[in-house]
Amino acid sequence: MKSEKSSSYFEKAKMFIPGGVNSPVRAFKSVGRNPLFITRAKGARVYDADNNEYIDYVCSWGPLILGHSHPQVVEAVQKAALSGTSYGAPHPGEIELAEMICQAIPSIDMVRLVNSGTEAAMSAIRLARAYTRRDKIIKFAGCYHGHADSFLIQAGSGLLTGGVPTSPGVPAGLISDTIVCRYNDLDSVRLAFDRMGNEIAAVIIEPMAGNMGLVLPDVEFLHGLRELTAASGALLIFDEVITGFRVTYGGLQNLVGIVPDLTCLGKIIGGGLPVGAYGGRKEIMQLMAPEGPVYQAGTLSGNPLAVAAGIATLNLLKTGEIYDDLEVKTYILETRLRTVFEETGIPVAINRYGSMFSLFFTEEEVTDYESTQKADTKMYSRFFSGMLERGIYLPPSQFEVCFVSSAHEMKDIDQTFEVARQVLEAMI
Ligand SMILES: *Cc1c(COP(=O)(O)O)cnc(C)c1O
Repeated sequence: MKSEKSSSYFEKAKMFIPGGVNSPVRAFKSVGRNPLFITRAKGARVYDADNNEYIDYVCSWGPLILGHSHPQVVEAVQKAALSGTSYGAPHPGEIELAEMICQAIPSIDMVRLVNSGTEAAMSAIRLARAYTRRDKIIKFAGCYHGHADSFLIQAGSGLLTGGVPTSPGVPAGLISDTIVCRYNDLDSVRLAFDRMGNEIAAVIIEPMAGNMGLVLPDVEFLHGLRELTAASGALLIFDEVITGFRVTYGGLQNLVGIVPDLTCLGKIIGGGLPVGAYGGRKEIMQLMAPEGPVYQAGTLSGNPLAVAAGIATLNLLKTGEIYDDLEVKTYILETRLRTVFEETGIPVAINRYGSMFSLFFTEEEVTDYESTQKADTKMYSRFFSGMLERGIYLPPSQFEVCFVSSAHEMKDIDQTFEVARQVLEAMI
C-alpha cells in the first residue's frame, strides 16, 4: 500500500494544524500509524491521496447513513447553494427540518438547530439547569457528549485512547458539578440521587452508548433513569446524536418507549454537513431566547445547506426500507465475522445493533466502560492495520463504532469478511 502522498501531507499539516488534524481521533495515534489523507469518496468507498481505495466503515463517524455523496443529497446541497449559502435570517427550510424532527420523535415538541452535537449537548445542559434551577448533572463513564467543559470527565471517544482521563483547561470547580455514574448500573445512579437528589438538574446519557465502542443498554436501566429523574424533579436528557435516525426513523427512545425531557441530535440530521439540534417539551423549550431568558445563538445555525442535506437525507430514510436493508446486511456481516473469529480461536465480543457494531478483542461480555477497558488494544491495532492494508477502513480506535451505510452492497460485505479472514489467520 503506497502512502507517500498521505505521509507528505501529514508532515505539512503538522506544521500548521496541531497534530495535523482538526479532530484528535483522526490522527490514528491509538493504532500507531499515520493518518491517510482522503481526496474523494463515493458510496461505500473512500480514496486517499495515493489513490488507494477502501470500503469505509467510519462513514464520517455516523452521519453518512446513505454513504458518501448520495446523488439526492448532493443535488439538494447544490440547489440550496445557488440560492445563497447563509442568510442570518429565518428561512422556510428550517421549519421543514424542525417539523420532520418533531413528527419523528414524539418527545420533541420544539427543536432548536445548532451547528454540532457539542453545541446541542452544551445547550441542553444549560437549559436543564435553568429549568430546574439546579447545577449538578449526572453523566456516565464512557459516554461522550461533545467537548464542552462539563462533559470532559471520564468521557468516551478520542479521550478513551488518548490517555487523557480528563482535559487540562477544564476548571475543577465546573467538574465538581458533574457526577459520573456507571453505565447500565442503576444502583450507582440511585446512590447519587439519595445523596444529592435535590441538586441534580439532569441525567444525560447516550441511550445506546457509541463512544466507548458500541455498548447496548439494559432497557430496564433506561426505564429506571426515567423513574429516578421524574421522582426528583431532574430532567432526563437522551443524547441521540449517533442513534437519532440511525436505529430507526426517530430515536432509540421510539423503540424502547421512553419519553425523555430533552433530546440531543446531530450527525444524520445534517446529511454530512455540520449540524446539531436539541429539543423537547414545549414548556421547557420555551425558556430559550428570544421566547424565554436562556441564551443560545449561532451565526450559521439553521444553515440552508446543512438543512437541505438533512431534509434530503430524512426524506430518503422515511419509508423505513433502508433500516430493514441495513439490518440484514449488518447481521450477515456480524454472523460471518463471528464464524471466522471462532475458527481462528481469537477471542472477541461483538456488540451490534442495526447498522452499528464494535469488535472488542476480549473474551468477556462488554456492557459498560470497565468491561470495554479489558479489550486488547494492541490486537485491535494489528487487526486495523491488516484490514486497512487490504482496503478496509475501520475506525482507528478500539473504542469507536463501525457504521454500515445503505451504499454498502452485499459484495462489499463479502469482501470485508474475506479480508477479515485473511487478517485474522495471519494474526494467530
Ligand atoms: C458525535 C457526538 C457528539 C458530538 O457531536 P459533534 O458534532 O462532534 O460536536 C455528542 N454526542 C454524541 C453521542 C456523539 O456521538
